[in-house]
Amino acid sequence: TLQIIIPYRDRAEHLKKFVEYYKGFDIVVVEQYGNKLFNRAKLLNVGFNETTDKIVCFHDVDLLAHDLNVYKTPFKDTIHLSGLCEQFNYKEIYATCFGGVTMFTEEAYLKCNGSSNEFWGWGGEDDDLYNRAKLAGLDVQFNPFKYYSQKHRKQTLTRQYEVNKQLCTSTDKTWQNSGLNSLRYDILKEDTIFGVKRILVNI
Ligand code: UDP
Ligand code: MN
Repeated sequence: TLQIIIPYRDRAEHLKKFVEYYKGFDIVVVEQYGNKLFNRAKLLNVGFNETTDKIVCFHDVDLLAHDLNVYKTPFKDTIHLSGLCEQFNYKEIYATCFGGVTMFTEEAYLKCNGSSNEFWGWGGEDDDLYNRAKLAGLDVQFNPFKYYSQKHRKQTLTRQYEVNKQLCTSTDKTWQNSGLNSLRYDILKEDTIFGVKRILVNI
């Protein structure tokens, strides 16, 4: 079945709404412990590593699909779903935008070595995941569906953002060096939050 994996820290209102809206879905919340810059992509890797489902859905906590049937869209390796978001007036941002909500088969996510673990702070990790998916020869499908956006402040851009832009894999093989094969983390606690499973992790 489909496993929804939510990268999470300190967005309780959004998460509460999310689990109500996605009642009946299999959800795991991967919460980053501590005050380091948020690392969305590494949390996705942890979620993938800690579950055993054939299909995973990496899902921002603030996005709610207009139509819950979009998760039944057939795809081969990976698919991007959240192409039309309320926060952008339901306009496509750019053609290869791969953030927000994606689904992968287990096999496909393994094949691209997951996501990079090196993206701290906002930005770049989604483009990098798109690039490594292409470099690994995956079929990358785009089906832009409508999503409501729960409101939040924009994460402050740190100097790290410039590093992230440099890190973005495009043509080389660096994607093979950081990812599922180099993933290190400590699970501090496993419990439930708003009725769904939570893994608190030090990354
Ligand atoms: N996120 C979180 N806490 C944070 C930052 C990010 O839980 O402090 C998670 C959350 O799932 C969020 C996703 O990472 O939806 C992407 O971050 P954000 O919404 O800030 O990115 P943007 O809306 O700018 O794409
Ligand atoms: Mn957001």
